[in-house]
Amino acid sequence: MKKLVGVLAIQGDFQAHIAVLNKLKVDSREIRNKRDLENVSHLVIPGGESTTVSKITRANGFWDMLAGFEGPVMGTCMGSVLMASRIVDPDADGWGMLDMEIRRNAYGRQISSFTAAGRIEISEEPFEMVFIRAPKIIKIGKNVKPIAWLGDEITGVMAGNKIALTFHPELSESETLHEYFISLPGGPD
Ligand code: GLN
Repeated sequence: MKKLVGVLAIQGDFQAHIAVLNKLKVDSREIRNKRDLENVSHLVIPGGESTTVSKITRANGFWDMLAGFEGPVMGTCMGSVLMASRIVDPDADGWGMLDMEIRRNAYGRQISSFTAAGRIEISEEPFEMVFIRAPKIIKIGKNVKPIAWLGDEITGVMAGNKIALTFHPELSESETLHEYFISLPGGPD
């Protein structure tokens, strides 16, 4: 399958992801409806407001199509919330792409946005993690593998070809995580 990265473009920082993908010279497309998903090999769910995006995507079966997307998916911040099986604050169902429970806005009001050096599984280098009203992964299933940490806290997980990150790699200097994501096979040739 030809590589074409879809970026959900309903609301949020989808443009920052497209800028990284352009830098990496990968074809991308903004996704606003079911038809836009045609021929898309990889899907990015950006940061934004999960309550808004969840409401809008529930219309016309778009939700089910996103939830059932078979290729690699990378969700950042809001994206990680929507990919979860269970959302807390307020309680809601996510797309269930990953067996995990996630708490929205979990860093509180005082330090709701910050940048810190974390660790990622695929690189020896520290990774600059930008957190903006970020969620916290509070429970993961057996087949869900941690791939990113801030101190002892898990900030990224993966299961199969699905990656959920509670921070914003599209806003940091390094393209390592995007590079890794687009290197995942996108379906039959
Ligand atoms: N607080 C937002 C939510 O839960 C996520 C914030 C973000 O994506 N930067 O939907």
